[in-house]
Amino acid sequence: MNYQQILESIRRDIEPLKCEGKQADYIPALAAVDPDQWGICIDTLDGHQYKLGDANVPFSLQSISKVFALTMALSLAGDDLWQRMGKEPSGTAFNSLIQLELEHGKPRNPFINAGAIVMADLLVERLSNPEQAFINLARDLSGQPSIDYNFEVARSEHGVAYLNTAIANLLKYHGNIVGDIDRVLRFYFMMCSIEMSCEQLAHAFLAFANHREPFDHAGFRLTASQVKRMNAIMQTCGFYDEAGEFSYLVGLPGKSGVGGGIAAVFPGQYSVAVWSPRLNAKGNSVMGLKSLELLTTQSRQSIF
Ligand code: GLU
Repeated sequence: MNYQQILESIRRDIEPLKCEGKQADYIPALAAVDPDQWGICIDTLDGHQYKLGDANVPFSLQSISKVFALTMALSLAGDDLWQRMGKEPSGTAFNSLIQLELEHGKPRNPFINAGAIVMADLLVERLSNPEQAFINLARDLSGQPSIDYNFEVARSEHGVAYLNTAIANLLKYHGNIVGDIDRVLRFYFMMCSIEMSCEQLAHAFLAFANHREPFDHAGFRLTASQVKRMNAIMQTCGFYDEAGEFSYLVGLPGKSGVGGGIAAVFPGQYSVAVWSPRLNAKGNSVMGLKSLELLTTQSRQSIF
């Protein structure tokens, strides 16, 4: 498959969208990012890499980090995790309080904020240094010891964390947070602030594309079956209340973040990361979504 040629053609085809949408501005540090950037990188399981555009520029992973958090939580708690959260698509915004209240503090899935805050609580409770364990995993998966948190972004988000604090309080009220709310949120914002380039992120997601192999990175282990299930959750819950649309247009498991990144996998073949900060109304990257739609259409490869 000539992926490089496909990437070139994608770049031409998305050009008309370049002014559509706007970057997340509810986190002050993200509002300052130049919105007119686009990069993409594909890593194949047989060791090839194809990239184009701003594929080497680091960006804020935000909710994409929830995939790493789920890896750690599943590795530590196994199926007990599902006593504290579900695995159904939410159909509501990533930071919605309404559903959480109706469902008595049990988040719909690990990829909405409420689910990730419960996972942060679990990791804070079980690990002596969760921040170190999380960054170790990110560094190991990406193969880049230089990967780090962006403390400024974490602080900036913590400073305006009215909604996430409300979510954490509701979880605590329902007994679904064990630890101190402020400690748990501090770790949650740190996870969201981690930065990678498309190149590094595609590399980090190769482990999930390799769904027939057990996962063993930085002390966290998943069986091949658990890796398969991680992909299933990415497929059904990875795109906020647009998971159905993403499935329909792209047909790959993946996860997006309000930093404008999307990471996806074609199990058994490749991982791909795309980034462009301008978001649509649901919080997904406009050019990122279109790029992946064109990738699976032009390559005629998807899980369907
Ligand atoms: N840190 C962001 C928040 O909690 C993550 C949102 C996202 O990327 O979906 O609002």
